[in-house]
Formats: sequence, C-alpha cells, structure tokens
Amino acid sequence: MGIEEKVPSGFLLSTVEVAAGYARKGSLWPATFGLACCAIEMMTTVSGRFDIARFGMEAFRASPRQADLMIVAGRVSQKMAPVLRQVYDQMVEPKWVLAMGVCASSGGMFNNYAIVQGVDHVVPVDIYLPGCPPRPEMLLHAILMLHEKIQQMPLGVNRDEVIRETEKAALASPTTLELKGLLR
Ligand code: SF4
Repeated sequence: MGIEEKVPSGFLLSTVEVAAGYARKGSLWPATFGLACCAIEMMTTVSGRFDIARFGMEAFRASPRQADLMIVAGRVSQKMAPVLRQVYDQMVEPKWVLAMGVCASSGGMFNNYAIVQGVDHVVPVDIYLPGCPPRPEMLLHAILMLHEKIQQMPLGVNRDEVIRETEKAALASPTTLELKGLLR
C-alpha cells in the first residue's frame, strides 16, 4: 500500500524555525507610541480604508509588556530619547523596531541639537521607512517586508548583532563610500 492510500489527506512537512517565524510574524502587536506628524499616518492604517487588521495587527497595546513592535512614528527629541529607550526595554522579547519617516530614520530636516539624528542612536532598528510622511500604504508595505525578515530570522539569533553586522556591511558598500566621497 502506497503512502498516499495510508494518509489520504496528505501531510505537511516543516521545521520548528519556519513555524515559529510564521507565528511571530502573524502575531505582531505594535506599541501605542506616536511622536509627531508621522503618527497620524500610523493611526490611519488602523482605519477601515487601510485595515491593518488584515494582518492581525490592529491591537495597538498601551502597555509595552504586551507589545513586540515599536513603530517610531516621528522625530525623536533628545528629551524623549530616554523615554523611548525605556519603553523599548520594557517590551517583550523577541521585539522589532520600525523607523517611520525621515525624521525617525535620520533626523530629517531637523538637523539641530534638539533632535536625535536617527533613532538607531537609541535603539536597534530593523527596518527604515523613508518619506515625509510615508503614506499608510507605505507603512503597510514596510510591515510586510518586516514580516519577511521575521520569517527568515533563525531561532536563537542575536538580533542586535545581526543589525550591527548589516549596518557595518552597508557602511562599507561601494555606494556608501561613493556617496561619502561626493559629500566630502
Ligand atoms: S518625517 Fe515629516 S511627517 Fe514624519 S515626523 Fe518628520 S516632519 Fe513629520
């Protein structure tokens, strides 16, 4: 008797890693944390028109201990940086950070002493989303890309180290070096 007759409805093979990645990416709960104008676009993703609930993510949590995604939506002031770090530290592991908009990613047009020039100075960032402000569709796209990243992430990996290595490789890339040469 062939295996098809023994198990007529078939069976599925997978690994714990793939199952864990699938579960993690499908159950992200963002922290309720908006800093400036970008936060309005973030809030809009919850509306019926954009419907972040399609990805099971409409439950923005008021408590960091119930959240595993920090969407840094807006510019980070020097005064706010320690608060942001505290919220991040209180979030459960594994956790992820999305820098939304140019201000959160690099300080944007606020090149001054009051604004942190990129939230990666305060917390490790998994994904950067450009734009001022990025539209809700762009945020949803970035979230889907983050889902892919989470799915690919091996179990037990040191996320901070992966981010550090990626940043090091990006800084050493010919494009970055060329840009630095042009800027000099
Ligand atoms: S990127 Fe633009 S919309 Fe977002 S916080 Fe900065 S100024 Fe506001």
